[in-house]
Parts: sequence; structure tokens; C-alpha cells
Amino acid sequence: MKDKGLLLVVSGPSGAGKGTICDALRHKFPQIRYSVSMTTRPPREGERDGINYFFADNAHFKELIKEDAFLEYADVYGHYYGTPKKYVFDRLEAGNHVMLEIDIQGAMQVREKYAEGVFIFIVPPSLDVLSKRLHKRHTDTEEVIAGRLAKASAELEWISRYDYVIVNDDLDAAINKAVAVISAEECKSWRNENLIASIKKMYEIK
Ligand code: ADP
Ligand code: 5GP
Repeated sequence: MKDKGLLLVVSGPSGAGKGTICDALRHKFPQIRYSVSMTTRPPREGERDGINYFFADNAHFKELIKEDAFLEYADVYGHYYGTPKKYVFDRLEAGNHVMLEIDIQGAMQVREKYAEGVFIFIVPPSLDVLSKRLHKRHTDTEEVIAGRLAKASAELEWISRYDYVIVNDDLDAAINKAVAVISAEECKSWRNENLIASIKKMYEIK
């Protein structure tokens, strides 16, 4: 029997590079499954339902909250975002890693419910760099960018509640650190009870 996979929870200010780093990790670890969140925010150009997010209206989202269908949910920038629970636990049981790219409020809810998760905070090297990256991404209006920058400083207060902090200055260096974190977590003996049992059995046979 396979041991459970890792629940990887990644947060950080908008524009910190979470999406970019998570994409790279998914290429390096094919056993990672990405949990598609549900949101009530309107789709951006090029976003597809069921791929980037499950797009829902407020009434549907609230119905799912009542049904306890979310591992966590939060109001982020005036819209609901949530992680559908069943997918996450099914994949972990099957031995896959599951990656959640979620905001701090959501990550802290996950920490309460599932402390064995791996909590990673991605931080930009400075507010100035963050501003440049948000502009370069061309996905948000000036007003939205100003809101995200204002929120970033407050978000940094939460870093020490995470297990790992990765400064995303040089992208390759940041990706390498994230790879090292996942590799080390994969090797923790308490996560590998079934593997250890099979190793012991193998040695007895010889
Ligand atoms: P987030 O998912 O945290 O909101 P993104 O991954 O969308 O952030 O990154 C924001 C922008 O910054 C994107 O245009 C991305 O290509 C760029 N970016 C990410 N990491 C770096 C880096 N280390 N150096 C330069 N640009 C980066
Ligand atoms: P965006 O609208 O730019 O796609 O995402 C905005 C913020 O919502 C990001 O900080 C992202 O981490 C967060 N987010 C995305 N999905 C979820 C989710 O399922 N739950 C929570 N709590 N936050 C989410």
C-alpha cells in the first residue's frame, strides 16, 4: 500500500511568483495534483472553467459552504475562493501530492484541520520588485494592483506561521529551494510507514 501524499500549501502576496513556481514544481514532480479552487470572481481573459478555477455564483458557493464541501474558504479581495474537500483527500489517499495555492486565511484553516500539511510562504525580494512584477503580468488594473501592494505588507506578518519561507529573487534558485523542501518532506520517516514496513519485510526475506 502506498503512503499518503503531501498536502503542499503555498501562499504569499499576489505577484510573489506562486503560480510560476508551482508550475515548475508540477513539471518536476509528476505525482503532484493541482487542486482547482472554486471562486465567485469573474474569469480573466483566457481562463477556463474547471482548469484555472471552477467559476460559480454567490448562491451556489454559499450552498456548498452549507454542505461542508470545502476544506477551507475565504473572502479574498471581495470574492469567495474555496478548496473542494473531496478531491484533496481522495488524491492524498491515492499517494499523490496535492498542491493548494491559497491565501493566508485559507492556509490557516487548513493548518487547523490538517497539521501534517507542508506550509510554504513565497515572498518577493522587495515591495518595489513586487510592484514591477504585478505591472509586467498585465492582468490587473492600476486600482487592483494598488490594493494588492497595500495588502502585501500586512501579509508578511504571517510568514512565521508557515514551515518554510522562500524568497523569490532569482527564479531558478527559488524553484530549487522549493524542490529541496518537497524532497526532504517526502523522506520524513513518519510519512513513510508503509515503505518502512516493506523495506523491513524485504530484509527479513534475505
Ligand atoms: P502569483 O501567482 O504569486 O500572483 P505570478 O507567478 O503570476 O505570481 O508572478 C507574477 C509575475 O512575476 C509574472 O509575470 C511572472 O512571470 C513574474 N515572475 C515570477 N517570479 C519571477 C522572478 N523570480 N523574477 C522575475 N519575474 C518573476
Ligand atoms: P486570483 O484572483 O489572482 O486568481 O487569486 C487571488 C488570491 O486568491 C490569491 O492570493 C490566491 O492564493 C487566493 N486563492 C485562490 N484560490 C483559493 C482558495 O481556494 N482558497 C483561498 N483561501 N484562497 C485562494
